[in-house]
Amino acid sequence: MDFESPAFEPRPPEAEAESFLQPVCSHRPTARVAAPRVAAPLVDPFGRAISYLRISVTDRCDFRCVYCMSEHMTFLPKADILSLEELDRVCSAFVARGVRKLRVTGGEPMVRRGIMGLFRSLSRHLATGTLDELTLTTNGSQLARHAAALADCGVRRINVSLDTLDPDRFRTITRWGELTRVKEGIAAAQRAGIVVKINTVALKGVNEDEIVRLVRWAHGEGMDLTLIEVMPLGEIDGMRLDQYLPLSTVRARLEDRFTLQEIDYRTGGPARYVRVAETGGRLGFITPLTHNFCESCNRVRLTCTGTLFMCLGQEDAADLRAAVRASEADDVLHDTIEAAIARKPKGHDFVIDRRNRPALSRHMSVTGG
Ligand code: SAM
Ligand code: SF4
Repeated sequence: MDFESPAFEPRPPEAEAESFLQPVCSHRPTARVAAPRVAAPLVDPFGRAISYLRISVTDRCDFRCVYCMSEHMTFLPKADILSLEELDRVCSAFVARGVRKLRVTGGEPMVRRGIMGLFRSLSRHLATGTLDELTLTTNGSQLARHAAALADCGVRRINVSLDTLDPDRFRTITRWGELTRVKEGIAAAQRAGIVVKINTVALKGVNEDEIVRLVRWAHGEGMDLTLIEVMPLGEIDGMRLDQYLPLSTVRARLEDRFTLQEIDYRTGGPARYVRVAETGGRLGFITPLTHNFCESCNRVRLTCTGTLFMCLGQEDAADLRAAVRASEADDVLHDTIEAAIARKPKGHDFVIDRRNRPALSRHMSVTGG
């Protein structure tokens, strides 16, 4: 396993070599960040205001979920990855241009060495009121030791990915994961006052018999659950068609067991929610393949190498690493961001191809889901 690489945080936070900022959660700006120029909010050619940035802070992970990665992945060299200071600069440039929500993701964000330094730093935007939400998507494996610190940095809600409640099945799906650790992580986050939402990828023949149980469990623990359709991103070891389970099918089956009531709840993400009358909890559906959610898309995605994707389902991208490294000031960065948003496409066109070719060559762990 490639866990000893310098970009990977194998052990507890004492080992945070890259803690480039203050040791405690502080809302003071860092000296490293150039003062943002006053500029207009980012609006794309279709009139959609860009208010949501997802940041993949690493391509690495301590799991190898079967729908996300091959067992043997080649990861990027450290020099290609944005440093935590650079990530902070890019995020802060977006916040200065009207982004109100930052979601840190990966790969597995909590395995990035020094990641809590980035949370501490970005939390200053919450304190000044320029940011509404700082959050993350995680597999939960490292959550138990970071939950309290995340809460301290103003993280109020997180997404934890969990596809099964059966420990053996969990190991089969994640290849390397341990269900008990994830459950401990969820419990720690809840104790710290963080609201947890569960993300479950619906997988044909793998967890389709467990969806009802997952709904009951999540709602019983006070958590929303969102079901996700498998997306054709990146080469994996199995066949996509084998994994693909339309959520229209899942929903029809759930309607045999539950009363699903339409509600108007939105989180700023692509999920459409219903309330399950029998449990009282919320259930979300993310259906990129059976329902096009592009018309209300307010988000862009930054990879750990500083590549900005304006659409999860298209190849066009902008190189923010070159922009950030071009100058100490943020002018080039702002110009590059503006030019990129001006190219944001109207939408994606994912197709599950019968020849098993991914619609896009990059894995979900590159853009972070
Ligand atoms: N490692 C973290 C985790 O698992 O939550 C964050 C990154 S992961 C790429 C983000 C989300 O994308 C997870 O909920 C995961 O289940 C989902 N995902 C990964 N590959 C996918 C695919 N091909 N189709 C649909 N969802 C996928
Ligand atoms: Fe890792 Fe998340 Fe991908 Fe699973 S889905 S391999 S936990 S990045």
